[in-house]
Amino acid sequence: MITRRQLLKGFTIGTAGLMLSRVEGLNVFASEEHHGSGHILVSPDEAIARLKEGNARYVSMKRLSDPGVGPEARKPLTKGQWPYATILSCSDSRVPPELIFDEGLGKLFIVRVAGNIINPALLGSIEYASLHSTSRLIMVMGHESCGAVGAAVHAFEHPETKETPGIEDIINRLMPAVKKAHKKTGTKGKALVEAAAKENVRMVIAQISKESAPLAEMQKKGELKIIGAYYYLGSGKVEFWV
Ligand SMILES: [Zn+2]
Repeated sequence: MITRRQLLKGFTIGTAGLMLSRVEGLNVFASEEHHGSGHILVSPDEAIARLKEGNARYVSMKRLSDPGVGPEARKPLTKGQWPYATILSCSDSRVPPELIFDEGLGKLFIVRVAGNIINPALLGSIEYASLHSTSRLIMVMGHESCGAVGAAVHAFEHPETKETPGIEDIINRLMPAVKKAHKKTGTKGKALVEAAAKENVRMVIAQISKESAPLAEMQKKGELKIIGAYYYLGSGKVEFWV
């Protein structure tokens, strides 16, 4: 099997031209480290703390007057990107990560897909942010009243339902979580949607480290954390599963 070190040899981070192998030589566990390009490498725990603070500002409506979305923020980002966290979240219009974490440009590497499912292309996007860029935290975030999970629960309860191939693909990827949640909780309808959405987050986390050997290796070394989270539509609060 190819090791992470072998895989990374020869790759560069972003457009800054910084060899990732140099990052390996640094103490990435410190809360913040400047790496070769002068940009800050943020540890997994510091990334979690930043997301928690940002969500607290959002919930209390004490958002930053400028979280980094203006010309000054844009200018250095023309040279590359140095995100500190990857978020796999739902496409749902009520769950926009930059807003709910009160965060600016270039900070969050976001992969959005209905039902925050995983497939090879989505896994590749997640891998990119940690293997070829600076993200040391992967957060899989489900949410309350997820329509995609609702569709999967509907299909589970009414197997005769027909959808388009695209929607069916999403439903099929959510179905193992629906079945597992149903078996565990014996619930149906709305309660099953919530249980399945949470089960899906747990299953996707397990799938990421199972299907990506380099990410699993980083995780094992403590260089990367993969965590779950759950967003509540009414309160705006994110529950961090750490
Ligand atoms: Zn959703």
